[in-house]
Amino acid sequence: MIIKTMPIVRSCSVMECAYNRETACHAGGITVEGPVPLCGTYFRSQRKGGIQETGTVGACKNDGCVYNDSFECTASAIEVSIHYTDRPECDTFTQRRIVKEAWDV
Ligand code: SF4
Ligand code: SF4
Repeated sequence: MIIKTMPIVRSCSVMECAYNRETACHAGGITVEGPVPLCGTYFRSQRKGGIQETGTVGACKNDGCVYNDSFECTASAIEVSIHYTDRPECDTFTQRRIVKEAWDV
């Protein structure tokens, strides 16, 4: 039986999220959306929740990323912050096409 190690959320700067404590995610398994790699697990709450351990990536719908294999994340870890939208995004996202062009030259 193959046991897959889920990627950890190495850091998340979105302090207002219910799963965030001291810039660390504590969600048991976040879902990353596509085509923009937003954290779909993010929500605001007065209460903090989640698990004691560091949060992990449960699933990712963004198959345009080089780390995505069958809608699962294969990176060892990801980082999350708010950059281009008003929602938390996966900063580890790497467009698949850009890497292919680099190999083509
Ligand atoms: S990665 Fe997502 S669920 Fe985890 S703390 Fe950040 S915004 Fe919240
Ligand atoms: S690194 Fe890529 S595959 Fe992994 S969660 Fe982020 S966008 Fe999805």
